[in-house]
Amino acid sequence: MLRQNLFKLFQHFIIKKRIHSIQKMPPTISPEEKQKMPEITTENPFCEVEDAVKLLEQCKEDKELSKSFVSKRKDYIGWEETFMGMALLAAQRSKDPVTQVGCAIINADNIVNSLGYNGMPRGCDDDEFPWGKNPDRPFLNKYSYVCHAEENAILNAKDSLKGNILYSTLFPCNRCAKMIIQVGITEVVYMNYKPDNDEVMAAKLMFSKAGIKTRKFIPQRKQIVLNFQ
Ligand SMILES: [Zn+2]
Repeated sequence: MLRQNLFKLFQHFIIKKRIHSIQKMPPTISPEEKQKMPEITTENPFCEVEDAVKLLEQCKEDKELSKSFVSKRKDYIGWEETFMGMALLAAQRSKDPVTQVGCAIINADNIVNSLGYNGMPRGCDDDEFPWGKNPDRPFLNKYSYVCHAEENAILNAKDSLKGNILYSTLFPCNRCAKMIIQVGITEVVYMNYKPDNDEVMAAKLMFSKAGIKTRKFIPQRKQIVLNFQ
């Protein structure tokens, strides 16, 4: 396919040069440069990679062919906003009436390995189990049931988590910190941070001892709008 496309490009270029010479128009490329052009014919439609590179540069100098080299978009979103945006979107799936947390885990190739949000375990009906806090009765406390966003993302990962980066809308608790360390995640990017309590202090201490890098998300833009219309 690449060779076919290159061959078409060469043909286009050669035909264009012929039209130039027929019309006695001055070519954009000098005769000396033309001499250096790779010889591509119907009998020999293949070219070496270095010839293709040379042709690409020559096309950029041509008045007509250079029109293909338009500039790329400038206002595209960066990786950081993309991944934290995915975590925020995942958080919107949460049924928790007070705290919605989302998480995205990304591998070294910037491929999404997993997403997660805080919710009840599979099979535990969102409408049956308690969403409130009851410190005196763990049986009636959501903390006894809900899986955290990081926990769900780790358990749902498609691939190895070693060397991955975890993006979370909230700094992980101590329980999730233990899992993050044990699966080999090496960096945690967080958006919000609850005031220090013993759990957060324990998480920070473990991350520090285990060599897990933590950093606050610094967005380059205030918002990303999703429009379904
Ligand atoms: Zn947690």
